[in-house]
Amino acid sequence: MGRVNGMPWPRLRDAILDLLFPPKCVGCGGRGQLLCEDCSASMERISPPLCPRCGRPWSRPQLCSVCQKTQPTIDGIRAVAYFEGHLRRAIHQFKYWGVQALAAPLAELLVTYQTEHRLPADMIMPVPLHPEREAERGYNQAGLLAQALGRRIELPVVGTALSRVKVTVPQVNLDAERRQLNVAGAFRADGQRVAGRRVLLIDDVCTTGATMEACNGALQAAGAQSVWGLALARGR
Ligand SMILES: [Zn+2]
Ligand SMILES: [Zn+2]
Repeated sequence: MGRVNGMPWPRLRDAILDLLFPPKCVGCGGRGQLLCEDCSASMERISPPLCPRCGRPWSRPQLCSVCQKTQPTIDGIRAVAYFEGHLRRAIHQFKYWGVQALAAPLAELLVTYQTEHRLPADMIMPVPLHPEREAERGYNQAGLLAQALGRRIELPVVGTALSRVKVTVPQVNLDAERRQLNVAGAFRADGQRVAGRRVLLIDDVCTTGATMEACNGALQAAGAQSVWGLALARGR
């Protein structure tokens, strides 16, 4: 890569682009940042009481009705905020419109959550996309979030120890049971890298938790000590 006056070209290019086209907040449209602090702060956080397993709001001490039925074995799943409003818009731009620069401000939500809640973790692992889908999109949004989180909280990001071996249909229009079937057996984990380790899975959106549970199945089979999932958002 070339350098101009000591500044690497990509950074200089970004600085010039910022000057010519200052970033606009995806929430409020204000100039200066892709996601401003006010919009981040206004996202409605998911707070207890929660189902201890899947993390959905649930006021009774036992597992929620969905977990009672599906019996997940993941240690737990948590999500930072509800998938609506500014967060929904930001995730859509990040995931489908190619705004990869949203990884850093979105990952800050995960940083704050993990700093406060300390989910057990020796390593961070993004929920993998199937290689074909990643090639179509050009990046794995969960991978970008995991990298940004790992840099900030100084945990290793192990992106290659878990892979998606089955093409699955999007979970969006499936009910809980079909989601579980759709992703069953879709993942494979590398025992040499995960055995005895505490894995923190990262994803952008978690709906029923079926995808994280399928990852958990592969990681547990490979000898992981514990598996927790952390997502930016979940539906109500
Ligand atoms: Zn804003
Ligand atoms: Zn639950």
